[in-house]
Amino acid sequence: MRRPLVLVISGPSGAGKGALCQGLLAAHPELRFSVSVTTRKPRAGEVDGSSYFFVTPERFREMVREGELLEWVEIYGNMYGTPRRWVEDTLAAGRDVLMDLEVQGGLRVKRCFPEAVLVFVVPPSLKEMERRLRERGTETEEELRRRMEEATQLLQYAARYDYLVVNDDLQRAVEVVSCIIEAERHRTERQDLSFLGRWGRKGGASG
Ligand code: 5GP
Repeated sequence: MRRPLVLVISGPSGAGKGALCQGLLAAHPELRFSVSVTTRKPRAGEVDGSSYFFVTPERFREMVREGELLEWVEIYGNMYGTPRRWVEDTLAAGRDVLMDLEVQGGLRVKRCFPEAVLVFVVPPSLKEMERRLRERGTETEEELRRRMEEATQLLQYAARYDYLVVNDDLQRAVEVVSCIIEAERHRTERQDLSFLGRWGRKGGASG
């Protein structure tokens, strides 16, 4: 049996991470999506427990103190964190986990799970990134300007990720990441077959 996969999707805002994760979940219903906790306010249409668990800053700080979060980050005054227990229980049940995290969060997850697969998603151009952010309409002009500046800085982390995917077409990006998922599943299966090497040396396999 192979080890369950920890797949992290990350990259600058406007890269289309959210839509990519939704596409992956539709294409791979076996993936379990890690729902983070956050102190930010729900946006229109966001239901508690679907994209996030919305908690107060006090409750978030308590979770940090109690070691309940695998990793956490502050983004523009809002806190976001991954529930440790949920991830550990899901992996223990043999299920593959998908996470949508800010760039440094992905690197922290890799420290906890060295076999985690980190996918860095970039938009095809800064112009397209700005267009997507404007279309999303969740940022003020000032936030949008900061996110555009931030994007170039974030690119330095791409080299520490396992894969870089250019999201110029959502369907295509889903297919590319699906190939990554299949390749990584195959790789962990092969690792678990390492005993075959020993078997071969004893003469059994080459028989
Ligand atoms: P938004 O507020 O737009 O939903 O999310 C802002 C950013 O937070 C996104 O880039 C998302 O990937 C990131 N994010 C969401 N949950 C977590 C988390 O638990 N940990 C980290 N490190 N980043 C998160």
